[in-house]
Amino acid sequence: MSRSKPSGGLDDPLTALTGVGPKVAEKLARLGLEQVSDLLFHLPLRYEDRTRIWPLAELRPGQLAQVEGEVINSRIVWGRKPMLLWTLGDGSGRLTMRLFNFFRSQLNQLKTGTAFRCYGEVRAGQRGLEMIHPEYRRVDECDPLATALTSHYPSGDGVSQKLLRKLVPEALKRLDDVALAPLPADVVAGAPVDAGASLNEALRYVHQPPPGADVDALAEGAHPLQQALAFQELLAHRLSLRLRRQSERSRSAPVMAADSTLRDRLVESLPFTLTGAQQRVVLEIGEDLARPRPTLRLLQGDVGSGKTVVAAAAAAQAIDAGHQVALAAPTELLSEQHFSGLRALLEPLGVNVIWLTGRLRGKQRTAAMEAVSGDADLIVGTHALMQDGVEYRRLGLVVIDEQHRFGVDQRMALRAKGGGVDSSPHQLIMTATPIPRTLAMTAYADLDISTIDELPPGRIPITTVAMSNAKRDVLIERVRGACASGQRVYWVCTIIEESETLQAEAASDLAESLTAALPDLSVGLIHGRLKSAEKDAVMGEFKDGKLQVLVATTVIEVGVDVPEATLMIIENAERLGLSQLHQLRGRVGRGDGASSCVLLYQPPLSNMARQRLNVMRETNDGFEIARKDLELRGPGEVLGTRQTGEAQFRIADLSRDRALLPSVGQGADRMLASFPEQAQELVDRWVGRASQYADV
Ligand code: ADP
Ligand code: MG
Repeated sequence: MSRSKPSGGLDDPLTALTGVGPKVAEKLARLGLEQVSDLLFHLPLRYEDRTRIWPLAELRPGQLAQVEGEVINSRIVWGRKPMLLWTLGDGSGRLTMRLFNFFRSQLNQLKTGTAFRCYGEVRAGQRGLEMIHPEYRRVDECDPLATALTSHYPSGDGVSQKLLRKLVPEALKRLDDVALAPLPADVVAGAPVDAGASLNEALRYVHQPPPGADVDALAEGAHPLQQALAFQELLAHRLSLRLRRQSERSRSAPVMAADSTLRDRLVESLPFTLTGAQQRVVLEIGEDLARPRPTLRLLQGDVGSGKTVVAAAAAAQAIDAGHQVALAAPTELLSEQHFSGLRALLEPLGVNVIWLTGRLRGKQRTAAMEAVSGDADLIVGTHALMQDGVEYRRLGLVVIDEQHRFGVDQRMALRAKGGGVDSSPHQLIMTATPIPRTLAMTAYADLDISTIDELPPGRIPITTVAMSNAKRDVLIERVRGACASGQRVYWVCTIIEESETLQAEAASDLAESLTAALPDLSVGLIHGRLKSAEKDAVMGEFKDGKLQVLVATTVIEVGVDVPEATLMIIENAERLGLSQLHQLRGRVGRGDGASSCVLLYQPPLSNMARQRLNVMRETNDGFEIARKDLELRGPGEVLGTRQTGEAQFRIADLSRDRALLPSVGQGADRMLASFPEQAQELVDRWVGRASQYADV
């Protein structure tokens, strides 16, 4: 960090560099590279070792290697896909090379006996090791071997590695005349890395690791100078969220009186008493809503912990104060269920609950839209709630269920539909995937967290077993037995194909074979291709007990609530992630009966799959499962940021650098308190224009 603006031409546009004209500059800009300093912070994704030649006999699959040898043979194979195939030998061994896109003239260059140097990834082919599309060059035309590791940059959009490898050294040269100041000592105190290391030194090192640099440490991102940069980057992201949040907090929000008659009446009308944990979080949220600043609260509670009534209580308070509430759920099915559940709770109290989904057409849609801008109090729906043209009369509270299914931009779009120029609605975000606190802070900065850490009384833990596909017959008997004693069964059919059609087909096949195997039972079928009215009808029959077995795709993954269902069978369980398995399993164990879950798998199990199934067998605790999930899969998946494309880091890795997070938080506090100007500079440098998406 530097107090004064960096001099030495670091702010110059890239056209200041040799060979960059307006056309090239335009391409670079698409990668977010506009100034010379942007290039300095465009960090290598990985490194290539072109300092040595590997003997062919020592190669291993998966390795990136540089090799040299003479062409032993070369020919074109005219299969369905023509291929130029050649073999290289170096005395120690041989290596096959395959080119799929080639010109005939290339064959002429690859004359037997000519020596080539090649670089590429070694793979295990059908007849020994091979490289597909290696880089190759005649040895007599090659430069001397590199003396240092070669950086490999994020590239694309017309920007090549070659160009970046030419421009970065020029940018680094300018760094000779400027000393970028390190982070203030106060900010980095207590960090487990030398976060105050010289920025000049760190940048130079990661762009151009010197000869003899620790290749393994660099490959893992574990070098102290890489870690120093990772700390800066994480700090910048945290600061960017905090600054956003600060500006958000400076906005106003509607005040909704904490003592709400409507809320009290709702709680009294429930057929059960709220658990202690539910009462506590209802009060926490109630206090939030009574404040004139926009709330951002994460409500986490395990599957079945009863988050919906808590949301209903919050909605009642908002409605009592004359505001509208929007509740968004990620799937049609779940939004329907919330709609009917919340209507049953709130309509008797005089609340106007409506449903808005993308499937509404014609008059129904017009009526729904009119209600949204008119007398609807609670609007339940899907992504349709956020769409253009949906105008709320007076939106004061936004509730998002299963937040990891929504992108930040969608959440912001909904928020933007409430409030005015300098006011925002309150936001309540519900999740059944508990996020460890340090991670939650990384994704949301200083949001408040309420946790329902208690299940409604009388719930009996679900027994989980893993069972090989070979034993399906036993399972059929078990289904028969369960249904004979009045229980209901989910049989979830999962296949890896993304296509809803294929999933639906697989589920229909299964339903057919179960109907044949269990002639005395009624088997229903639900999948994503059904119209919502059809889904509704099937779900209703299962709820009422007209259907005893429900074959389903993962459409029932979230939220579906049928207390009589006590047996959950999950096909291909070995292919699903932990949180998905936990969600599916959570569809049973919702009533007073003992429930069980059978995880069907196709042997042999991979090591990873075995670990996942073991976790499922050993615990019902969503927090524990989330922790294991994080260990096995990494935070990108757990936070759902992988789908939504948030939090793309240049050098940091949330999984690898988890140990840095607590000191990043402390550093951010101190930086905001004592060095606010430098905080903004750091954000501009690392997060730049991306910061507008990192909002909460
Ligand atoms: P989730 O937290 O997974 O969204 P739900 O809100 O769907 O859980 O609640 C699960 C089930 O538990 C519902 O049938 C709901 O009516 C019931 N429930 C919620 N709170 C209580 C309670 N305090 N006592 C008994 N049952 C409850
Ligand atoms: Mg729920």
